[in-house]
Amino acid sequence: MKQFAQWERQATAHKSRGGAWWKAKDGENIIRIFGFQHTITDGDFALGRVGRGPDEPKTGDDTTQFFLAYRHHFLRGGPITCGTIKKLDGRYAGNCETCDEARELKDSPVDADKAAYSRMKAKVRYAMTILPAGEAETKVWECGQTIIDFLIESLKMMKTMPFGAEGRDLCVRYNPKAPPVNMYTCMWMDREDSDDLSSVDAKVPDLWLLPKYVPDAFSAYLQAAAPPEPAATPQPADEEEVASPPPSPKKARKRKKKAASPGTGDVVNFTHGDVLVGGTVVSEHPSEPECYLVQGELEGELLEFEVYLTDIV
Ligand SMILES: [Zn+2]
Repeated sequence: MKQFAQWERQATAHKSRGGAWWKAKDGENIIRIFGFQHTITDGDFALGRVGRGPDEPKTGDDTTQFFLAYRHHFLRGGPITCGTIKKLDGRYAGNCETCDEARELKDSPVDADKAAYSRMKAKVRYAMTILPAGEAETKVWECGQTIIDFLIESLKMMKTMPFGAEGRDLCVRYNPKAPPVNMYTCMWMDREDSDDLSSVDAKVPDLWLLPKYVPDAFSAYLQAAAPPEPAATPQPADEEEVASPPPSPKKARKRKKKAASPGTGDVVNFTHGDVLVGGTVVSEHPSEPECYLVQGELEGELLEFEVYLTDIV
């Protein structure tokens, strides 16, 4: 019965992520990454996606891109787009209530607050368009830093880019039981061992024009004719308007049947919002009863979670 409950929860977690978004299955996943064409706009400069050096593209230039970088907060109610953007020059622009709240936790002397900070702070994510082997429709893969680092590093050694119908397959191995840093491992397949996709008519959206990944305050910059660039505000922004804060993680948790108490080093699966996450128990929580600090990977990001016994499946 317990196994069935886990299957059901996994199926629900996948369903709620939407059909157009890709989630690796346990074991080997063969995918093809598709680059996309993007014509540089004035807004791209305002959003800090391109720099202003002599070798940088200019407004109107046609470029090939393969990923979009963005910032998200993973909250128990689901991910939300951070209200700030980080530009190529390292400056931040915009304001974000969730970032403000996370910063207050960061300097707290309480360990539990520090753990809450690491969970709540904005995470850099990367979106790519991929075609999973054997599927007809492209999907968006939202991955973390370790995967994009692997891709960038490996591309340096390639004479031709491995993207698109004529490109090379990427083998993504996903092992939810591995230590968190090793949950995803990637390997490029040789061109001759890669699927022939020349007959596939893949739809490849310009991810740089998708509003989903851009804070609302900056959405005007997605249009070709963008307004002038505002002054970037450095973080932290001290003067903040306190609106309704995001729900406390503890209050949002659901009451469920208790699992057996795990020990340090045990591998556990637990629910985080509507996502099932695997991780390793680091210790019991220093102050909360029936709560554990668990190191796990969410969306390619290594995090420490406060996990209540009731959230362990
Ligand atoms: Zn934020």
